[in-house]
Amino acid sequence: TWRVVAPAPDRPFPPHETWGRGALWGTQPLKDGRIYAYAAATAPAGARAADDEKAELLRRFGDWHDPVPGIIAATAPEEILRNDVYRMADPLPAFHRGRTALLGDAAHAMAPTLGQGGNQAIEDGIVLAHHVTPGRDLGAGLAAYTADRLPRTAAVVRKADRVSRLMSLTGAPAVAARDFLMATVSRLGPGLVLRTFDGIADWRPPGATYAAGTTEEAPGTRR
Ligand SMILES: Cc1cc2nc3c(=O)[nH]c(=O)nc-3n(C[C@H](O)[C@H](O)[C@H](O)COP(=O)(O)OP(=O)(O)OC[C@H]3O[C@@H](n4cnc5c(N)ncnc54)[C@H](O)[C@@H]3O)c2cc1C
Repeated sequence: TWRVVAPAPDRPFPPHETWGRGALWGTQPLKDGRIYAYAAATAPAGARAADDEKAELLRRFGDWHDPVPGIIAATAPEEILRNDVYRMADPLPAFHRGRTALLGDAAHAMAPTLGQGGNQAIEDGIVLAHHVTPGRDLGAGLAAYTADRLPRTAAVVRKADRVSRLMSLTGAPAVAARDFLMATVSRLGPGLVLRTFDGIADWRPPGATYAAGTTEEAPGTRR
């Protein structure tokens, strides 16, 4: 994967994530007027460009649609982050042992295809703080943390993997079938694509109850 924060392109552009053959590029606006762009492609672990990562991005994405080539052109090579992505295919047996708990990527590293790694880490922290409280038995609190978080994060890891496999397709017939399916589903209703996030984006912190359609915290919600 490659990531960069860059100046916004001169021309307006729609935020997008574009899937190609075994590669993707996404461009999202940032609040401060700049853009965040990310890219992914299948490559050998540890591989780095012999020249620099800007040249590598130009080779891989230089002929993609606007605003991709312009963003690469406007980016300094040293501003480009390149990282290999690893994910934990098999869940850990528990997120705690003794007095120690794991959270975030250490507990459930996942493909970034759903943009959930950081979000799940935040949820972990909230749930851990909910269960491990002064006066409560630590072992029981950590066991409750594992019981709450392990099944949920394992499911998100699996879901991110499925999207990753779709994104990584390279064979022309498989890519054509995927693109046709995605276009058809989008045409049937944009909301259908967002259904991927059912059960993920509707998470609520433990102890908080919300009236439908509001973001107000319930009385007594822990901060
Ligand atoms: C391309 C890409 C796009 C992503 N997009 C999204 C997204 O849109 N939304 C989202 O929610 N998530 C996203 N993620 C995932 C997200 O970045 C991670 O899930 C998140 O950073 C995990 O946080 P963490 O604190 O668990 O681990 P890390 O962010 O890896 O933090 C661990 C820290 O510990 C430090 N460390 C390691 N060893 C030691 C040591 N021995 N002593 C002291 N410090 C040490 C490391 O240097 C690091 O700073 C993306 C990831 C990638 C690669």
